[in-house]
Amino acid sequence: MASKARLLVHGGAGNILPANANEHATRPALLAALQAGWGVLQQGGAALEAAQTAVVVLEDAGVFTAGKGAVQDTNGNVSLDAALMNGVDQRAGAVACVPWLRNPILAARLVLDQTKHVLMVGGGATDFLRFQQAAFEARDYFSPAQNAVVKQGTVGAVALDNSGGLAAATSTGGTAAKLPGRVGDSPLIGAGTYANQTCAVSATGQGEFFIRSVFAHRVAVAIEHGMSVNDATASALAEVARLGGEGGAIVIDAGGNACALFNTKGMYRGVI
Ligand code: ASP
Repeated sequence: MASKARLLVHGGAGNILPANANEHATRPALLAALQAGWGVLQQGGAALEAAQTAVVVLEDAGVFTAGKGAVQDTNGNVSLDAALMNGVDQRAGAVACVPWLRNPILAARLVLDQTKHVLMVGGGATDFLRFQQAAFEARDYFSPAQNAVVKQGTVGAVALDNSGGLAAATSTGGTAAKLPGRVGDSPLIGAGTYANQTCAVSATGQGEFFIRSVFAHRVAVAIEHGMSVNDATASALAEVARLGGEGGAIVIDAGGNACALFNTKGMYRGVI
């Protein structure tokens, strides 16, 4: 049976040069994430499950600034942001600024599945997630990526399944030296993460600029108005750059057209 399924992942955009010192760690993690998500799609699984599965692998890898590898805030604490969105029904779940979560993307999934809300933050989110038995970890579980070359390392996935369903998922510990309480673009639907029946978008980069340009929704609207995936993403990145920001994104549409673009030196990325 011909498969139209496709999955893209990213491990963050930034000052990443080809064959840099981190490649020996990041490449296997990206491959493992692609294979895990692809396994879901091959078994007829939904795009949402595939994107989520890929992001869990990247969160657990410890080599990106998400999940295990999350950067610390200026108080030395770890707080996590994540979102996922299902294109078919535009249902979404997200958490922001929740400390010590093992898999923020699974927490976002709990918000999607178990509440009528989209975004949960603060003590209420922590209480809800503990009640739902989400996994929290002690401080020594987290191992912020040490290489100073890597300034951004958010992770994300976009998927198209065999039924034509699209989904996006993004997870991050945020940016280096962030203030406690800071929330980036990743958990904000329409900024760092978005999916509908037309396309799925997961962004990475300096989140403030992706919020101010409403990046992911901007891409979707441009595609809906007839722009190609590539042109829509390039044009939204140009708006980020116009505001003074940098980063990148992975985008896929319902026809399987996809791109991974960035205006930084590099972006960890893969497609299957
Ligand atoms: N966009 C993320 C944030 O601002 C950071 C990143 O992509 O590395 O939280």
